[in-house]
Amino acid sequence: MSTETSYTTPQEEEMIEAAFKEVLDGYLRSNHRKKVEIIERAYRFAKEAHQGIRRRSGEPYILHPIAVAKIASQEIGLGSTSICAALLHDVVEDTDYTVEDIEQHFGPKIAQLVSGLTKISGGIFGDKASVQAENFRRLLLTMSEDIRVVLIKMADRLHNMRTLGSMAPNKQYKIAGETLYIYAPLAHRLGLFAIKTELEDLSFKYEHPKAYEEITAKIAESEARRSKIYKDFSAPITEKLREMGLKFEAKARMKSVYSIWRKMDTKHIPFEEVYDLYAMRIIFDCDDPAKEKSICWNIYSTITDLYKLHPDRTRDWISNPKANGYQALHLTVMGPDGNWVEVQIRSRRMDEIAEKGFAAHWKYKTGESDEESELNMWLQTIKDILENPEPNAIDFLDTLKLNLFAQEIVVFTPKGELITLPVNSTVLDVAFELHSHIGCHCIAGKVNHKLVPLSHVLKSGDQVEVLTSQSQTPHPEWMEFLATAKGRTRLRAALRKEQVPVMAKGKEIFEAFIAENHVDATNEIVTALLGAYRVDNREQLFIKLGSGEAELDDYAVKLVKRVSRKALKAKSPGTLKKISRFFSFNTSKEKESAAPAATQIQSAAPIDTKSTYILKQDDNGSNFHFASCCSPIPGDEVLGFIDDNGEVEVHAMNCPRALALKASFGPRILSTAWHVTSGKFLARIRIEGIDRFGILQELTSLISSHLGIDIRRLDIEAHDEVFTCDLDVKVEEASVVTDLCNKVKKIDGVKIATRIK
Ligand code: MN
Repeated sequence: MSTETSYTTPQEEEMIEAAFKEVLDGYLRSNHRKKVEIIERAYRFAKEAHQGIRRRSGEPYILHPIAVAKIASQEIGLGSTSICAALLHDVVEDTDYTVEDIEQHFGPKIAQLVSGLTKISGGIFGDKASVQAENFRRLLLTMSEDIRVVLIKMADRLHNMRTLGSMAPNKQYKIAGETLYIYAPLAHRLGLFAIKTELEDLSFKYEHPKAYEEITAKIAESEARRSKIYKDFSAPITEKLREMGLKFEAKARMKSVYSIWRKMDTKHIPFEEVYDLYAMRIIFDCDDPAKEKSICWNIYSTITDLYKLHPDRTRDWISNPKANGYQALHLTVMGPDGNWVEVQIRSRRMDEIAEKGFAAHWKYKTGESDEESELNMWLQTIKDILENPEPNAIDFLDTLKLNLFAQEIVVFTPKGELITLPVNSTVLDVAFELHSHIGCHCIAGKVNHKLVPLSHVLKSGDQVEVLTSQSQTPHPEWMEFLATAKGRTRLRAALRKEQVPVMAKGKEIFEAFIAENHVDATNEIVTALLGAYRVDNREQLFIKLGSGEAELDDYAVKLVKRVSRKALKAKSPGTLKKISRFFSFNTSKEKESAAPAATQIQSAAPIDTKSTYILKQDDNGSNFHFASCCSPIPGDEVLGFIDDNGEVEVHAMNCPRALALKASFGPRILSTAWHVTSGKFLARIRIEGIDRFGILQELTSLISSHLGIDIRRLDIEAHDEVFTCDLDVKVEEASVVTDLCNKVKKIDGVKIATRIK
């Protein structure tokens, strides 16, 4: 961090001495054994080592380690060993001194801490941070051999965040993101609430300066009104507590800027609708820890005598302290203005623990036992928490969702690399960012361990894993959800490369087909085929054919024959038009109408509309085709309709178009029965449910492996806790889909599983 070398001025010397004196004074006021001599030595040593070096802000470098030592001592509560290590923490990293030098001067303990701090400064915690989540917990456990390393690092980070304004803007963003992603959750886990809140607010301030300003301004604006409400609310309580003879302190505890913003963001509400802007905190003095609990409950009952209690929001963290050591009694009551207010009741001891974490426990130990052994006791406690927190360390990290207003977002790969992307970037952008090859074979992603489609839009702080498959090929539609220039360029190049041989192959297939069926590739025929295959131009058709996505099947044969027939007939006057007019207007003579219609249709055997028409399909072909409006599949309730070419078109019974046909073309409607022995048909299933870890994997594995059903498309959208999944499957008949839906519904969390048209 050093940028410039120059001698310090006498004024600066004074400033440095004053800053150090504050560290020393704070230490002397603490309950620690007084080891002033070694602290002073560490200070002189560090000052000499950093002599002439300045921070980016221009101030002498030594002010930074002094500030870190002050935080370690006064805000975290650490003792002389840690203060020395904090003063020396950048010496090995930034100067010619080695760990051995430190050991020689200050002994093995301090040297070990400085060595740990030096190691992590270039590694996972450093500027070149590779934030490898899987390795994160392992690293913490190594660190917690001496947790003081992590705590001093926390102090270092806090000071860097407090002075972040003098950093280059691009660095600011990265450091802020990392702080929010790693340090704030870690501070929370260690019980360092004050530090956690400050880290969050500072990160937020640099990541979203506008939102930060706005919220800060609104807090200031509403100050007068809020303090009146608070006064009205608290006055009756404090009066009663005084009557009880308690010695206490009551204060309005303002929600942090960051947590207000998070609430606004997650609940989609304006500032004005965040009602729990403040909580009332009551901190009482009590010499006897054994009495704390009953005092808390006495205060509780006093408050609930005054105000209506919210039945579900009492939290007893006294009988069951949180894993990080937090103790307090929380309750929520209805304030005089009709809004719910949280009241937190704590003893002085509990308050210190809440603010400083486990370091405070140590302060409250009585007796003159050795500093190191006391320290070891609470280090062990923290180590226990770290060793057995939750299933994995990633839980630390994936709880954070940052905001969307920023121009850039930062996401993490599973390997811990940070990737900066423009807003609205998707999983696919990350894939292409990593490698062209990964982009081209991307099938989906996992964002914070949840399966998402590759079009999923990312947020800052997301951990993103790209899933690939060798069978995947790049698609032109992907262009629509790529936000990075790199992604677009890479996709375009891949498509071009991919499509040249495919198109050539498709063209060959097409030409062979035309020759085989003895038709000409007229505009009419091509247009009909483009329509049938839902593509806009020949190139797209060739790609579909060449890639095997579509084939020129029996239906295509019939189609081109029909079109060429039509073209022929158009030359000899008055056949088809006559037929359709006949059917449209002569509905009263149903009995007569069917017969002549049938006879007039060329090359098709007359269809008996009075008996049930058997819909046949086997390996030799079929005697019907599906209507595209309602896309029924075998097994569905359907009706047949004799189309203008005398062929049977099959509609779902409830298809609106079929109803219209029934009304106007009664004589051409057939009742039908299924006899389909070959082929598979596309059906779409909509699944909705409550998102939980692993549900989507369970779903897809049930469908594809257990039931052996062919999944053609999978679209997943997850919003907050709800997901919607559209699934295209290929099946023999409708009952398979019904069966599938029933099985899917049994998955825990799935609310709806139904076939949609
Ligand atoms: Mn530092």
